[in-house]
Amino acid sequence: MDRLAGKTALVTGASRGIGRAIAIRIADEGALVAVHYAANTQMAEDVVATIEKNGGRAFAVQAELGAPGDAHELFLRLEAGLKERTGSVELDVLVNNAGVMGGVPADETTAEQFDRLIAVNAKAPFFLIQRALSNLTSGARVINISSGLTRFANPDEVAYAMSKGAVEQLALHLAKPLAERGITINSVAPGITRNGNPVFDIPEAVEQMARLSPFGRVGEPQDVADIVAFLASDESRWMTGAFVDASGGTLLG
Ligand code: NDP
Repeated sequence: MDRLAGKTALVTGASRGIGRAIAIRIADEGALVAVHYAANTQMAEDVVATIEKNGGRAFAVQAELGAPGDAHELFLRLEAGLKERTGSVELDVLVNNAGVMGGVPADETTAEQFDRLIAVNAKAPFFLIQRALSNLTSGARVINISSGLTRFANPDEVAYAMSKGAVEQLALHLAKPLAERGITINSVAPGITRNGNPVFDIPEAVEQMARLSPFGRVGEPQDVADIVAFLASDESRWMTGAFVDASGGTLLG
């Protein structure tokens, strides 16, 4: 399909996991994709190579999120990459996917761990959107990756869930002003989704996690990427400010 032909997209945290699948998926739809990453240059380059092998277009953009000036630094590199390839700095799709997990019980969470979760998962998307405002085209799409943990209790992930609860506020409160420019903004909440975490190499653990979904399996990055591809396309034009459950039914309880 080529629902995003001629469009440009930024996917943060696209070197691996869900972000990688989103980058590949929306590149397959025809978008020129900026594959953002923090440290894994080789993995980001591999994503670019995969996209090019599939006949698509992409380039890698490095920037550590959660550090002062992060959004501006990322956008300077993004704009240079876009300008070189399209002659403009216009952006049609922004996917705020990069994130860090917690996995620390509330009574053991340090102030530094808490600040880091908020800085990467909530503050960075806020300032990336703010910085993107002058680049976003009429009809652009903003998609923020949240988590089913904003609706599913887990005492080991309180701080992480708080950071994701915060990121969901972006869609609610920015949807109206962005709609004036024809831009939509939505939150996507995955459930347990296979990534590079070693826990997915332990069959008993995967079996236990799979029981949380009525489909009896864990999510694959492509499951989430297909939903994001829809939200990135014109077909989602009548949806904004929404919470999109991408948990494979886990939130049904
Ligand atoms: P991964 O841990 O597999 O990948 C994380 C990505 O984010 C990598 O590309 C990484 O770059 C980048 N990243 C991490 N920290 C930073 C940082 N400080 N600055 C810039 N980039 C950074 O993540 P997942 O695919 O598992 O998760 C993707 C999103 O989905 C996250 O927001 C996560 O919270 C959310 N989510 C995931 C679920 C899951 O079960 N997997 C469930 C619910 C939500 P690099 O490779 O360079 O380190």
